[in-house]
Amino acid sequence: MERLSRRLFALRELSLQEHASSALLQQFLRRHGFRVTRGAGGLPTAFVARRKVGRGGPRLGLLAEYDALPDLGHACGHNLIGAAACGAAALAARLLDGGPAEIVVYGTPAEETIGGKIVLARRGLFRGLDAAMMFHPSTEDRVYMTSLACHSFEVEFRGRAAHAVASPEKGINALAALLALFAAMERLRPSLPQEARMPGIIAEGGRRPNIVPDRAVGRFTLRAGDLRRLARVRRAFFAAGRAAAQSVGARVRFRAVDLPYAEMRTNGPLAEIFKEELQALGRRTVDTPRRGMGSLDMGNVSQVVPSIHPFVAIAPKSAPLHSRPFARRAGGPAGRRGLEIAARALAATLLRAARDPELLREARRAFRAGGPPSGAPRGEGRSR
Ligand SMILES: [Zn+2]
Repeated sequence: MERLSRRLFALRELSLQEHASSALLQQFLRRHGFRVTRGAGGLPTAFVARRKVGRGGPRLGLLAEYDALPDLGHACGHNLIGAAACGAAALAARLLDGGPAEIVVYGTPAEETIGGKIVLARRGLFRGLDAAMMFHPSTEDRVYMTSLACHSFEVEFRGRAAHAVASPEKGINALAALLALFAAMERLRPSLPQEARMPGIIAEGGRRPNIVPDRAVGRFTLRAGDLRRLARVRRAFFAAGRAAAQSVGARVRFRAVDLPYAEMRTNGPLAEIFKEELQALGRRTVDTPRRGMGSLDMGNVSQVVPSIHPFVAIAPKSAPLHSRPFARRAGGPAGRRGLEIAARALAATLLRAARDPELLREARRAFRAGGPPSGAPRGEGRSR
């Protein structure tokens, strides 16, 4: 398992280019008796690996990630996620001893860009699972994970070029429309859900100061506490874009650049088991609500299967995710310690789920009941 994580770390392949990383994990799983299907969900670097122990029993999923970041390499520690998922699967399959259970490992690429799990979830690949689990290295130990729903858009305004000094009245300024959209988003803030975030950039704003820009392109990511509230933010964003276009007589077009990320719903009963296993390994979890969070593609899995996405600390708070110091931890002894803890806790949680039908019934009940688990943000939250 350590060798796997070291080799993934050295490969540092980017999203959707993780060919060698994916092959490495598949080879490991085949050696441990798993049947592997490559190219799951139409993604060449995704895979699904299954191993049945005994007849019948629950179907339990482990999720592997293995993409790296440009320049920074494995600064999100996905080398540890891939190795832990495959290692825990092999370990649990061995310890199941007659089962019965089916262990399914999902190779989920491109967590950092398009969210591979969202694509696999859309294709129905998680259907029939009784539980789905993974771990993510972090700067704290935490089992109650929350994340924001997120959807990214490109907006293009089309106007008309003209000499910006000699005959500006003959032009239609597309950049002015884009700037009006930025201003409108600021004004909208108080009427949107409190946790909503709508950061944007200007990707294209004209070519020369003496030409009225006939094309302006902005990129925005819209985030909110859950998909329902995200839909409200999206409607407000579209309306503001149309109004901005109208205000100068430009045309506007919106294009979604990814599939919507759903908010993470942590399954309470499964999280409690993982927490007990972490405690048995000498770790203490932080159970206070999460602050300053982003979005996860595991959120979409958690909408269809009882799921957990716990954090295991491998670095101090001063070495945050997506930084060089975190990458050093992910490739060093701290990462290996975290890997061992995570793989043990994942395998133990999986074994307990396989042997205790009541636990999975409880997990299913909590999943159906819905609602935020402890640690999740509550309420509609307007800042007005
Ligand atoms: Zn990550």
